[in-house]
Amino acid sequence: MRYGETGFNLEIDLSRGSVERVETDPGLTELYLGGLGTSTKILWDRVPPETDPFSPDNLLIFSTGLLCGTPAIGCNRTIVSTFSPQTLLMAYSMMGGFWAPELKYAGYDKVIFRGKSPNLVYVWIHNDKVEIRDASHLRGKGAGETAELVREELKEPRAQVAAIGLAGENRVYFASIEQGRSSASRLGIGAVMGDKGIKAIAVRGTKDINIAKPDEFMKLCNEVLKYIEAREKKPIPGVMPILAGLGSPQEMKLIDEEWHTTNFMWGNSRTRRKDFWTKEIEQKWTQTQESVRKRLISCYNCPMKCGATISVPGISTYMMKCFSKLTYTMAAYSDLDFGFTIAQRATEYGVDAFSAPQVMAFALELYEAGILTDQDMPGMPSDSEGRFFWLLDKIVRREGIGDVLANGSYWAAQQIGKGAEAYAHNNIKKHEQLPLKLGMLNPVYFLMYSTGEKINITQIEGQFPQSPFPTIEEREDFCKDWIRVPDEKFKQYLMDWEFRGEHSNPYYPTVQMSCEIVDWQEKMHYIDDALGTCAGLSSFPLKPPYHIHNYPAFISSATGIDMDEAKLTQAARRTRTLLRAVNLRRGLTRADEKPPEDHWKKRFPELEAKLLDEYYKFKGWDNQGVPTKESLHELNLDYVSEDLEQRGIIKNEQS
Ligand code: SF4
Repeated sequence: MRYGETGFNLEIDLSRGSVERVETDPGLTELYLGGLGTSTKILWDRVPPETDPFSPDNLLIFSTGLLCGTPAIGCNRTIVSTFSPQTLLMAYSMMGGFWAPELKYAGYDKVIFRGKSPNLVYVWIHNDKVEIRDASHLRGKGAGETAELVREELKEPRAQVAAIGLAGENRVYFASIEQGRSSASRLGIGAVMGDKGIKAIAVRGTKDINIAKPDEFMKLCNEVLKYIEAREKKPIPGVMPILAGLGSPQEMKLIDEEWHTTNFMWGNSRTRRKDFWTKEIEQKWTQTQESVRKRLISCYNCPMKCGATISVPGISTYMMKCFSKLTYTMAAYSDLDFGFTIAQRATEYGVDAFSAPQVMAFALELYEAGILTDQDMPGMPSDSEGRFFWLLDKIVRREGIGDVLANGSYWAAQQIGKGAEAYAHNNIKKHEQLPLKLGMLNPVYFLMYSTGEKINITQIEGQFPQSPFPTIEEREDFCKDWIRVPDEKFKQYLMDWEFRGEHSNPYYPTVQMSCEIVDWQEKMHYIDDALGTCAGLSSFPLKPPYHIHNYPAFISSATGIDMDEAKLTQAARRTRTLLRAVNLRRGLTRADEKPPEDHWKKRFPELEAKLLDEYYKFKGWDNQGVPTKESLHELNLDYVSEDLEQRGIIKNEQS
């Protein structure tokens, strides 16, 4: 019997219209856990590196995490992985909500799509019955609208539906997959779903999941629940509001946006508006938010209620969470009511709320600079809000200039030329980032931005505070119950960290400390993404309920796998290294490992080179970021070593 996982994947070949239920190898669960870990292994094994993201040979994998659907609080992530049309590297993007637990209850750990359907289809998974159904009547429909229509058609109101909108159908490089209570948005995975001809995947499951040691497991789950309740009553003092509590940043509850509006850039990562937040704005935004926010909502088996249903008069209700209420607002130099209004349309179209507004602001910057002209933008309204709606419609339909912009700011700039490249200034590995421009280089963030395989900072950071606490008392207070540290030395790193002087950025944390901090943070994210735990309860916030010391017991009692901290650390390293190898095979080089050019005002080329050198060494990689044969051997990745050697990526002198 398999515990925690179902032990079966669904293999769907869209070209042939075939469906297979395939038993998986429990040995791979021991090595890679599940979720992102086993999906990375499948992509390594089955997608040759020359494969174009829009080739029928590319796979699109919807995976549950190893603990999804069990009573472990907040273990509900669907991990979607494939190859990104935007970065051309491996993409993995996660969504919360209810989809992954439902898939587990239907009896599957993953759904693996290959091939391409000649017609638009949707997939209906109802326990053992799996159908590929015609979706021609859903063409052009919004993602939320599609989910409703599918549920009605199936007469199954409890089906969980993941769907794409027009953007995915038209292969917009920043198209998302929407799922009612969440979305998987980054790196263009919705475009791959559209390319494969899948409009939606509906799931309903009624089976059980086996737990190896139920009493022990339930005790741990109850401890987590109790801790969440206690932690919520005790926000961390001295940090910005979104980092004080747990969960995905509580943007639907919070009204105070002084920190975001003051510190993040407006437009296409263009300017900071330090004087924007006033008493009047606060009152106005409070009124706006309270009038459209109908209900706070949670994902499966979580008390946190990070999302909300939003209802703007005259348009249909939708779900929002996190920072998206501000991404459109700030990109357009506009107001919160505009942000809530355009986000509804964007959600139905299915676009990433980080990339889409930035691409539109980028286009308007090019227009102001005369690089794009009226000829490129015929009929565009004169006001900023009208222009955003106009551009959004053009992009998702790939009409006129929208066809160019639909490829994201990096590729659009290449196509437009005439100096447009200089305006695509907020990308890492060809992908739009949060619009930040900061003063002094932060060595920890430099490493995370440069080397993260997720190419998205919020999926790397967490655990270690973002900046020092001003007083010794505050530091002591923070450290006294900081049991999550993998080693006591991290407390000292924090105790000694100052705003100014010898122990401040960029030379403190030191290079060695920075490597250790990044390694710890990254490890926690890789574990979460394998288990399907929401980062909002683990790797993202300070002092979360899940950590390296209690995770092994969760895994052992749920799955029966004999797990300890060292083995779990090794499993996370294995997946992290394998993912790097997947990307190296697809052409990733050291030259790609850099933050956006103007992310920090004060840069330190020598220090940055040293940070990269030492971090690579720390990871067991050579100075080009390629894992050494020895480190691959230690991680049971000899098959990777052989492949990289054959391709000349591991150089002979390294052997
Ligand atoms: S913490 Fe928030 S985002 Fe995470 S599972 Fe809970 S409700 Fe969902």
